[in-house]
Amino acid sequence: MMDFLAQCRAIAGDAYVVDAPADMAAFLTEQRGRFTGKALAVLRPGTVEQVAALVRVCAEHRIGIVPQGGNTGLVLGSIPDASGRQVLLSLARLNRIRKVDAVNRTMTVDAGCILEHIQQAAAAEGCLFPLSLAAEGSCTIGGNLATNAGGTAVLRYGNTRELCLGLEVVTPQGEIWSGLRGLRKDNTGYDLRDLFIGAEGTLGIITGAVLKLYPQPKASITALAALPSPADALRLLVLMQDHCGASLTGFELMSRYCLDLVAQQFPALPRPFAEAHPQYVLLELSSSESEQHAVGLLEHAIGAALDGGVIHDAVVASSVAQSAGLWQLREHIPLAQAKAGKNIKHDISLPVSLIADFIAATGPLLDAAFPGCQLVCFGHLGDGNLHYNVAPPPGISNDDFLANQDKVNRVVYDSVMAFGGSISAEHGIGALKREELAHYKSAVELNMMRAIKAALDPLGIMNPGKVL
Ligand SMILES: Cc1cc2nc3c(=O)[nH]c(=O)nc-3n(C[C@H](O)[C@H](O)[C@H](O)COP(=O)(O)OP(=O)(O)OC[C@H]3O[C@@H](n4cnc5c(N)ncnc54)[C@H](O)[C@@H]3O)c2cc1C
Repeated sequence: MMDFLAQCRAIAGDAYVVDAPADMAAFLTEQRGRFTGKALAVLRPGTVEQVAALVRVCAEHRIGIVPQGGNTGLVLGSIPDASGRQVLLSLARLNRIRKVDAVNRTMTVDAGCILEHIQQAAAAEGCLFPLSLAAEGSCTIGGNLATNAGGTAVLRYGNTRELCLGLEVVTPQGEIWSGLRGLRKDNTGYDLRDLFIGAEGTLGIITGAVLKLYPQPKASITALAALPSPADALRLLVLMQDHCGASLTGFELMSRYCLDLVAQQFPALPRPFAEAHPQYVLLELSSSESEQHAVGLLEHAIGAALDGGVIHDAVVASSVAQSAGLWQLREHIPLAQAKAGKNIKHDISLPVSLIADFIAATGPLLDAAFPGCQLVCFGHLGDGNLHYNVAPPPGISNDDFLANQDKVNRVVYDSVMAFGGSISAEHGIGALKREELAHYKSAVELNMMRAIKAALDPLGIMNPGKVL
């Protein structure tokens, strides 16, 4: 292995081939501290050519490569296994904004750019890059693309896949594919870009991307509505879309249990309603005209929802600070859960029209199997995406309850499949959900996925053990 490391050092420079355990530790531990992998070395190339040369050396020595961006992923995708036979390849030094084309409304970036820096660079040009998620201060666009991340504005702008027009990729053979075309139309055969997006680093290393930019909205406005049930939340979604069209940019469902948990764990946060309600929806509207226009649209739609008995009550934020306060309630749900203790998490999606039926059917199934268990159910309802987390019944410790993880997963995922949904809406498969993927995907789908993997990565060196 000295030979291998010497070759890597000759390519990237001594300082950027790290093999001292203390210096590797931060790269090898999953962000919640739940697992630490082992690696031969952490490679930190500074150019695309260095990435390609390092991949060629890895291929020569048959060494598995784990690409890593910001290491914020939640399914053990960016961490090597425990064998100590793989290398971790960090993209963090590839962090340049390469070009902004204000007329084509595109930005070409290195894969290691932090998402927040991309948002800021777009804003500096008077544009919007709409991908936004709570990890945006540390996740990279390469990781967002590799996991096809969603975030808070999918309803209006789509997932990361919809925000990308072109990619640059280092193949498992160490070649550079330059697909950095800012084209909105390109019907010239198989769409290679779409193969690499969402592949979680198992088919190649994304080193650059052309991203779509949008006009900055002139105003955005936030409201919180209180409702009787998830079925009413769906009625509200349809009503809002009918009244506001593409101006509706966010639609987040939160159950009473979620906001009670936030109130318990973070008592300083606002409590918008004097009394509790079974469900809440956080709404966001953007306008390309003016704040007055956004307020007018929202007030008209909320008036119709109150008149039609779809909602019980609503508060509309009247300042940026109030709007941030409402979003804080949503963003503090995962933090409140973490403070309250570990629970069994599911990041699922369903056809939007079946979400209320899924919630009504699955709760009783879980209660029959684990009497008294608590559901922390919230999510991007407008995208059909739920965080459907199961907390222990009162009196049972969180650690004891985690022993039931496989059985809980089976109840939830069987129900997801019965409703035509997906076991991973956002976070991907990684190493954590690999067995579940094998359990639920059809043989036809799995065989096509394996054939693609074998064709592009015949040596199996790209992120081994992840996804498949
Ligand atoms: C607080 C928090 C909030 C989140 N919110 C959301 C959310 O709202 N929506 C959502 O979809 N996800 C969310 N996530 C998960 C989200 O997918 C990731 O945080 C983010 O997209 C991963 O980016 P990263 O740079 O940290 O990638 P990493 O964690 O480093 O890697 C993730 C995967 O991508 C691969 N990868 C990384 N870079 C490359 C590359 N350049 N080429 C090829 N493969 C690569 C890795 O091997 C790994 O499999 C959240 C995570 C956290 C911690």
